[in-house]
Amino acid sequence: MKISEILKNNKVTISMEVFPPKTDAGFESVGTAVKEIAKLNPSFISCTYGAGGGTSKYTVKISKDIMDYGVTSMAHLTCVSSMPSKVEKQIEELKANNIENILALRGDIPEGIEFPGGDHFEYATQLVNVIKEHYPEACIGGACYPEKHPEALNKDEDILHIKEKVDAGCEFLTTQMFFDNSIYFNYLYRLREAGIHVPVLAGIMPVTTRRQMERSIQLSGCIIPARFKAIVDAFGDTKEAMQAAGIIYATDQIVDLIANGCTHIHVYSMNKPEVAKGILDNLKTFI
Ligand code: FAD
Repeated sequence: MKISEILKNNKVTISMEVFPPKTDAGFESVGTAVKEIAKLNPSFISCTYGAGGGTSKYTVKISKDIMDYGVTSMAHLTCVSSMPSKVEKQIEELKANNIENILALRGDIPEGIEFPGGDHFEYATQLVNVIKEHYPEACIGGACYPEKHPEALNKDEDILHIKEKVDAGCEFLTTQMFFDNSIYFNYLYRLREAGIHVPVLAGIMPVTTRRQMERSIQLSGCIIPARFKAIVDAFGDTKEAMQAAGIIYATDQIVDLIANGCTHIHVYSMNKPEVAKGILDNLKTFI
C-alpha cells in the first residue's frame, strides 16, 4: 500500500525503522529482528540504505521480506555516493520487486568528495526527479530537519530547499530525531507558513543506552533537554533501567504529539523489537 494512502486521514499512525546488517554474517539476526517488529503490525516499516555502517545491498531484500510479513514497507535510497547508472539500477530493482514507497535521500557526503557537476547527485531533489522519471507510480518521501540540516546556512534556506523537494514530488516528510516537542511544533508552523502542506512524520528515537545518546548527538547535532540528560546520568549505566527510561521518554513525547494533533509518528526502532513492543504496548489505548 502507498504510504500517502496510509497518511490520508488523521488516524494515528506509528511506523518503525530498521537497518540492514553491517556484514553478511549479521543478516540472520537482523532478519529475525525485522520479523519480530513486523509481528507488532506497525503502520509501515522503513529500511535504511547504508546508514550507520549498514550495507545497502540488503535494503531491497529486507523491504520485500517486510511486505511478505503483511506490513507495508518503504526502502530508503541515497544518491550522493553513487553514479546515476547505479541509482537508476536500484530504482529499477525496487520497481521489479513492487516496493512502491521510497524515501529519497541525498546521504552524507563522504570526506574528500568534490562534485564534478553533470555526473553526480548533489541534492535529494535530483533523486526525486530521477525516481519520478523511472518509477512514476512510486510514492516518494523525503527527510527534513526541525533543528536545521547541519550544512544549511540557516533555517529559512533549509526550508526553501525542503519546499523544492516537495514541489518535485515528495508526498510526505520524515523528521530527523528530536527530543523536545516544542522544536517540532515550531518547525511544523514554519513549514506550513512556507506553503509545505504534506504530512510531516515526527521522528522519535527511543534512546536506550548512554552510547546511543552520544552517537545521536554526534550524528544529528540535536539538542538534548536537561530532563533527558538527567535520565541518562542517573540510569545510563544500568541496562534495564536505561531501556525502560528510554521507552518511557519516547512514549511521553509521542503522547504529547498525539494530544496536540500530530498523529503521524515514525519510531527509530533500530532493530530492537523489545523497544518497539514497549512503545506500542504503552500506546495501545491511543491507536
Ligand atoms: P538534501 O535534501 O539534499 O539536503 C542536504 C543539504 O543540502 C541541506 O542542507 C539542504 O538545505 C541543502 N540543499 C538542498 N537542495 C539544495 C540546493 N538546490 N542548493 C543548495 N543547497 C541545497 N542516510 C543514509 O545514508 N541512509 C539512510 O537510509 C538515511 N535515512 C534517513 C532518514 C531520515 C528520516 C533522515 C532525517 C535522515 C536519513 N539519512 C540517511 C541521513 C541523510 O542522508 C543526511 O542527513 C544527509 O546529510 C542529507 O540528506 P537529505 O536527503 O536530507 O539531503
